[in-house]
Amino acid sequence: MAGKTPKNTKKGVGQVARLGLFWAIIVFLGLAVYAALSPNSNLKNVALTDVVRRANAGEIAKIDIQGNDLKITPKGQKQPTEKSVKESGSTIYEQGLNKDAKVEINVLPPSQTGEVLWSLTVTIVPVVIIVIFFMFMMRQAQGQNNQAMGFGKSKARLYGEDKEKIVFEDIAGNDNAKQDLQEVVDFLKHPKKYKELGAKIPKGVLLVGNPGTGKTMLARAVAGEAGVPFFSISGSEFVEMFVGVGASRVRDLFSKAKKNAPCIIFIDEIDAVGRKRGSGMGGGHDEREQTLNQILVEMDGFDGDTNVIVLAATNRADVLDPALLRPGRFDRRVTITLPERKDREAILKVHFKKKPTDETVDLDKLAAKTAGSSGADLANIANEAAIIAARRNKKKITNEELTEAFERVAIGPERKAKVMNDHEKELTAYHEAGHAIVGHVLPDSDPVHKVTIIPRGGTGGVTWFLPPEDKSYTNVYEFKDILARAMGGRIAEQIIYGDDGITTGAGSDLRKATEIARDMIIEQGMGKGLRDQVFHEDNGGLMFDKMTRERPYSDETAKLIDQEVSQLITEAKQRAMLVLKANRPFLDKLAEALLKDETLEEAAVDEILSGTKLPKEAKLHA
Ligand code: ADP
Repeated sequence: MAGKTPKNTKKGVGQVARLGLFWAIIVFLGLAVYAALSPNSNLKNVALTDVVRRANAGEIAKIDIQGNDLKITPKGQKQPTEKSVKESGSTIYEQGLNKDAKVEINVLPPSQTGEVLWSLTVTIVPVVIIVIFFMFMMRQAQGQNNQAMGFGKSKARLYGEDKEKIVFEDIAGNDNAKQDLQEVVDFLKHPKKYKELGAKIPKGVLLVGNPGTGKTMLARAVAGEAGVPFFSISGSEFVEMFVGVGASRVRDLFSKAKKNAPCIIFIDEIDAVGRKRGSGMGGGHDEREQTLNQILVEMDGFDGDTNVIVLAATNRADVLDPALLRPGRFDRRVTITLPERKDREAILKVHFKKKPTDETVDLDKLAAKTAGSSGADLANIANEAAIIAARRNKKKITNEELTEAFERVAIGPERKAKVMNDHEKELTAYHEAGHAIVGHVLPDSDPVHKVTIIPRGGTGGVTWFLPPEDKSYTNVYEFKDILARAMGGRIAEQIIYGDDGITTGAGSDLRKATEIARDMIIEQGMGKGLRDQVFHEDNGGLMFDKMTRERPYSDETAKLIDQEVSQLITEAKQRAMLVLKANRPFLDKLAEALLKDETLEEAAVDEILSGTKLPKEAKLHA
C-alpha cells in the first residue's frame, strides 16, 4: 500500500514539469522539421523539360521562381499545382524556354524560412540532446544524493485523505478492541475536553494480537474515525546495517508527525526494536537499543499539547522491554483475540460482499469449520475461492470452491501429480485410517471431519479433525487423545507391516506429538511429577542470549522433563495400539474404502466406523 509523503508530492510536480518540457521540445522539433520540408509538399513534382515544353506550347499560365525552385500554375488554375527544380546558376531561358512564350514569369526573392529552420534544427538538436543528457545525469546523481542524505529519514508512509479511509464499521468483530480504541478517537477529536479536567492524553497504545487479526486495520480505523493523518512504519524498517540510522529515523518520524499533529504514528512489529535490552552483544543489538532509546526519548518529549498518539502492534508483548510499557509510554494495552465463530462469519461476510456467490454457499458453516483462523486467513480463503471459481470459468462462487479454498489454505493444495506406487498408496490408506479410528474412538478427541489419501501440501494424506464448536481451553484428557491419534498412523503401519515395516510417512506426526508433549510439560504445568510448574525458557532475547544464558532449571529437572515427555509419548502409543487392535477389522475396512474413494467425508467415516469400541485399558476416565 503505497502512501504519499509531502516530499513525494513535490517530486511529482517537478516530474510533471520536466515531462512537459521534454514533450514541448519534441513537438517543437517536429514542427520545425515539418515546416522545413512542407511548403511544396502537396505540389506534384514534374520534370523541368516537361515544364519548358508545356510553357512553350502555351499550356502554363505562370511560373514562380524562387532560387532554384519552380512553382507551376497550369492554364485554368489559380494556384500552383506542380513544382520543379532548375539547374543551379542557370536561368529558365537557358533551359530552353522561348523568350516569346506566353507564360508569366515571376521571380521571388530566395526563401529564408526553410534554410533558417534547417540551420536552427541543426544547431538546436545537439544542444537539446546535450541538455537532456545532463539533466538525466543530474537526476541520477541527485537520486543517489537523496538516498545518501535520506538514509536517516524515516520511511514512514503517510495515509492522507486521498487514501481510502477505513472506519470501525469496515472491521468485523473485534468489538472489545474497538471499544477500547474509541477512547483514543475521542482524545484525538476533543483533546480540550480532557485537558480541561487535567487529564493527560495517553501517548502510546499497544495492540497485542496474533498476526492477521486486524491490528493494522484497527490503527488505520482510529485515524479514519478521528479524521487525522496516519503515519505507518514497521519496526524492522528502523534497523539498517549502520549504527545510528534507526535512531535518526525515529527522530525524523516524530518530527514529521509533530508537524502534522493531531495524528497517529503506527509502529508495526514493535518487537523488532523493542525487545528487552541487556546483553549488549553484537552490533545489531546495540543498534536496536539505540533505536529503542530514541523512541522512549521522543515519547517522553511529547508535552501536553502534542496531540500525537503512538499505536504499536506486536504479537509478543511478553518480550517487550519493560521501559516501553511504563506509564507515560505504551501504558495502554488493547488485546485483539482470534475471532470467534460469529465474528468469523461477519469477517467472511465482509470479504464476500463484493464476490458473487450462489445459494449453496453457507458462510456460517465455513465459520464453524475455521476455528483458530485469523481475519487475514479468512480474507485469504475468500480470495482463493474467487480465484478457483474464475479458473473454472464460473460466474458465481459455489460451495465447492469454498471448500476447496478452505482446504487449500488450511493444509495446502492437492498434489495429484505426486507419484505414489500401489504399496505406498496402501500404506497411506492404513496410516490415515489409523489416525481416523483412534480419533473416532477416543472420547475426548474432536470428531473426524475428513480423511483423504490425496497428497496435500507436503503430506501424503490427511486426516482432519475439527472441533464442533470454538474452545478456549484444552484439558489433559484432550491433549492425551490428540497425542494418541497422532501416533495412530505409525501404529497402524506397525500392525499391518510389522515393527520394521514403518516408514518416514509418520515423520511430521511424531514431530507434532513431541512438540505437544513438551508444551504440556514445559508451558502448561501438566507433567505428572512436575505438575503446576512452568519451565519457560524464551525470554525474548536473541539467539545469542539463549546460548549464553543458563536455563531457568537444573540439569535434574531437564532430565525429568525429558522423562515426562517420553512417558506421554509411550502412553499415547500404547493407547493407539489398544484401540487399533480392538478394532482391527475396521482398519482394513476404512483403508479399503480410502483406496477406493480416496477421500471420505465425516458422514461416510462415521458410517464405516459405526460399531467400533473403546477398550477399557485405553480409557483415562470414567
Ligand atoms: P495485522 O496487522 O494484525 O497483522 P492486518 O490488519 O494487516 O493484520 O489484517 C490483515 C488483513 O486481514 C486485512 O487486510 C483484512 O483483509 C483482514 N482482516 C483481519 N481482521 C479483519 C476484520 N476484523 N474484519 C475484516 N477484515 C479483517
